[in-house]
Amino acid sequence: MGSGAGDGLRVERLELGQWGTNCYLLTCAETNECVVVDPAAEPERILAAIAGRKVRYIVLTHTHLDHIQGYTGVREATGAAAGVHPLDAPELPYEHDFALVDGAKLTFGRVELEILHVPGHTPGSVCLLHGQTLIAGDTLFPGGPGKTSDPESFLQIVQSIRERLLPLPDETVVYPGHGVSTTIGAERPQINAFLTRVREKTLCGDVLWAEG
Ligand SMILES: [Zn+2]
Ligand SMILES: [Zn+2]
Repeated sequence: MGSGAGDGLRVERLELGQWGTNCYLLTCAETNECVVVDPAAEPERILAAIAGRKVRYIVLTHTHLDHIQGYTGVREATGAAAGVHPLDAPELPYEHDFALVDGAKLTFGRVELEILHVPGHTPGSVCLLHGQTLIAGDTLFPGGPGKTSDPESFLQIVQSIRERLLPLPDETVVYPGHGVSTTIGAERPQINAFLTRVREKTLCGDVLWAEG
């Protein structure tokens, strides 16, 4: 489990399930209220990690199977309201409680999270922003964007990253859905270099900025 602090928000990462998907626990350092992002699997490990905290919300960055296998277990045990973007909701085989739309704010304790709709990896992918903390889902990883299923989706994820994530300050820490964190400043030069190159129109799938 990794953890970081800043702006009164504590970030903890749990790697869960057979794909090692990241579940993030976001906790208000002052009030101990928290949000569970992507209850990927092993709900008992999530529940043990948040014991003693008040869970305000469960948030899904998107509805791929590797991000939702602990969803029902955590939702039923905590009674917390669960949110998903309307464009990904049809892919969620369970009920949810509210819609995560672009620009929406989620407040827990003294922390306010802003929802950024970043289509591409899936139509309803979202990132969560608080100060210099970005929970990125499968949209941005160290060295490349999230996987896309066709060239149109690839253009969409690149547009989402260019318009919504690149304007963030260099210090912004990016916590992806798999693996370790990076920063906007670390990613910016390779993304900018990629954007200035002429690219094949068929590009999609697992793409690295350096090779694309
Ligand atoms: Zn995914
Ligand atoms: Zn994933």
